[in-house]
Amino acid sequence: MTGPDRIIPLYSSSSGNATLIKSHGMYIIIDCGVSCKMMTKALVSCGVYPEDVSAIFLTHRHTDHINGVPVFSRKYHTPIYGTRATLAVLDNLSSTVTEIEENDIITLKDGPEVRAFPTPHDVPGSVCYRVINRDTGSSIAVMTDLGRVNDGMKGFASASDVILLESNYDPYMLEHGEYPWPLKKRISGGHGHISNPESAEVAEYFISQGTKRFILGHLSPHNNTPDVARTTFTSYLTDRGLVENIDYEVKIAKKDIPSEGYVL
Ligand SMILES: [Zn+2]
Ligand SMILES: [Zn+2]
Repeated sequence: MTGPDRIIPLYSSSSGNATLIKSHGMYIIIDCGVSCKMMTKALVSCGVYPEDVSAIFLTHRHTDHINGVPVFSRKYHTPIYGTRATLAVLDNLSSTVTEIEENDIITLKDGPEVRAFPTPHDVPGSVCYRVINRDTGSSIAVMTDLGRVNDGMKGFASASDVILLESNYDPYMLEHGEYPWPLKKRISGGHGHISNPESAEVAEYFISQGTKRFILGHLSPHNNTPDVARTTFTSYLTDRGLVENIDYEVKIAKKDIPSEGYVL
C-alpha cells in the first residue's frame, strides 16, 4: 500500500473514539468506540475499506473506546491488540486476539512498530500508543484518557511527528457545570482526563522536543468547546513566545465525523 503516512481522527469525544493511522504502508485503528456501522461509514468516507485495516489497538476498556469491537470483529475479522484487562471485557470476537503488556513494543509484519505505554487512567491496563514507520522513523502518538501526564509519558511520546493529545475539559466549565460532584472529581482527580491548560502545558514540552503538529481530542461535549480548547492552547503557547503555524500547528478533532488530521 503506497502513499504517505497519515492520521485521521474518525471520532473523538466522550461519546466514542477511533483514530485511523496509516504508517509503514499499513492502516491500523486505535480504538473502536462507536458502532461498526459508524466505523464503516467513517472509514469509507476517508477512502478506506474496513477490510483494508490490518489491526485494531485498544487503549482501555471504557465503552467509548471499545463499543464497536465485537461487531467489527465478527464482520471483518480484524486482528485485535489490547492489554489483558481490556480484552477481558470483550467476548464473541472472531479475530486473532493478541494480549499485550503495558510497555510492549509490537512489530507488525510488513507494517509499523507500535509501542504501548501505561497511563494513570481509572481502569486497569490503560495505555497510550506510538506508531512508528520502521523505514522512515516518522511516528504518530495517540494520547487520550491520560489522568495526568507524568515524565514517563512525556518521554514516551517525545519527538513524535504528530501527537493526538487529550484536551478534555475547561476547568471553569467543569467546575460550574451540571455534573455531580463525584463525577467532577473523577474527571479532574488525576485518573480521569486532562484539561485544556494541562494539554497546553504538556504541548509546550513536546514542542521543545521537536513535535510541531498537534490534534486536540477527546473533548467533553459538556465541559468544553472546540473554540475554548483551541484558544486556551494557543494563548498559553503565545504567552511563551511560540507562534502558531511557525513553531507548531494545532487542529481540533471533531466529535462525530472524520477530521482533517495530517499527512506526514
Ligand atoms: Zn475515553
Ligand atoms: Zn477512559
